[in-house]
Amino acid sequence: MSANTLAKMNITAETISAYDKRIPRYTSYPTPPFWTTEFTAKDWAEHLRSNSESDKPLSLYVHIPFCAKRCLFCACNVIITSKDWVADEYLDMLEREISVMSDLYKGSGRVIQLHLGGGTPNFLDHSQMARLLKMLESKFDFDPEAERSIEVDPRIATPEDVVRLYNDHRFRRISFGTQDFNEETQLAIGREQTLDITFANVQAARDVGFKSINLDLIYGLPKQTEQSWSETLDAVGRLRPDRIALYNFAYLPALLSHQRSIEEADLPAPENKLAMFIESHNQLTTAGWEFIGMDHYALREDSLVKAQREGTLRRNFMGYTTLRGTNMLSLGVSSISDFEGVFAQNVKKLTTWRKHIEAGRLPVERGLKLSDDDRFRRHIIEELMCNGVLRFDATEPFSGQKIHDLVDAEMESLTPLINDDLIVLSDKSLLVTPRGRVFLRNIASVFDSYLKRKMDKPLFSRAV
Ligand code: SF4
Repeated sequence: MSANTLAKMNITAETISAYDKRIPRYTSYPTPPFWTTEFTAKDWAEHLRSNSESDKPLSLYVHIPFCAKRCLFCACNVIITSKDWVADEYLDMLEREISVMSDLYKGSGRVIQLHLGGGTPNFLDHSQMARLLKMLESKFDFDPEAERSIEVDPRIATPEDVVRLYNDHRFRRISFGTQDFNEETQLAIGREQTLDITFANVQAARDVGFKSINLDLIYGLPKQTEQSWSETLDAVGRLRPDRIALYNFAYLPALLSHQRSIEEADLPAPENKLAMFIESHNQLTTAGWEFIGMDHYALREDSLVKAQREGTLRRNFMGYTTLRGTNMLSLGVSSISDFEGVFAQNVKKLTTWRKHIEAGRLPVERGLKLSDDDRFRRHIIEELMCNGVLRFDATEPFSGQKIHDLVDAEMESLTPLINDDLIVLSDKSLLVTPRGRVFLRNIASVFDSYLKRKMDKPLFSRAV
């Protein structure tokens, strides 16, 4: 299969600039800025209790917020510490949170997916990791084949650690934070990570048998040049991860005080940043990765690509997935659950989280119960983001006629996208073209009824 480079799709810097608007990333719909603090811990508990008969399979997410050092670009909810004992204390609290949640959730759904994210999940040492897994396994019914995945900071991991994550803790998918291999850029973002340590850990993961290896990369960082970025991409090509998440650096010094340590003058100019995106896309798709959409690439033989071709790809807060129809329960500070039509997010502050748990309450800060219209639009947006098609002969879970009617109602917004060859409309479907896949957020946003409401300040990052 030949690569879909941007030039081949006639996507120029001008095309990209024209679609570079502030739009949600749609890891959920409705998106978090529209959730409400009127949704309380009591509502969440009641919802879990009243749906306790649910037999849908479960995805579990656990957030480990600790990092040894702050990377200057990072926008995640993290706690910087070098003290080992904080992890033990955190596990004590998690144990109580798991207990409160599992007392309310009595469903028969088996856990088929577990993801540890952060922060830095490998901040936990091996005995702490074993303890966490035992806590979860004692309260939830794990499928023996459950897909276990973990985010790993290679700077504090050794190849031996990676092997133990596979052998002792049965993780099968692993994601390494990488960002950029250039030393000057690493100094400018406060994240020194040798090429050797990343290579050694990736090699160990491959040798021991991890089913999937992911690297996270970021373009638009300080001191990056088109030349240095191309060298990073070359190194990534040699590492050949199964999946790549490629993010656009969002410089938000007004919101994130630690980003003020980044010299604005060190950031690449917008036209260089655009050139880096174009180069990334071209280099990766030429070297064997397929663009899944929304910052994600996967090798052509990867299960994500296969699922996308078969129209069965799904997306949740953990990213793209081949697992369908799961409820997600999440634990730890700032984590987000998605259970039977309700989103619930935990508080972000560690001390507040602890206070709630000590009081025997679910530590929820905000959430949303989806209306029928939310569920319908969520389905539409998910189909577009994952499988790139809306079929008008669909019968489940929403009728094709209902989908067709909504498409008709949005014709004014869709027409420019049709004229720009981002989508093709026929009497059978609305189909995203390969060119349109680069602008998925723009296409999906047509069906977002909340975006049409008044917003006083920019809530979302740029689309491309
Ligand atoms: S990038 Fe990763 S390691 Fe760095 S501060 Fe953010 S979560 Fe922690």
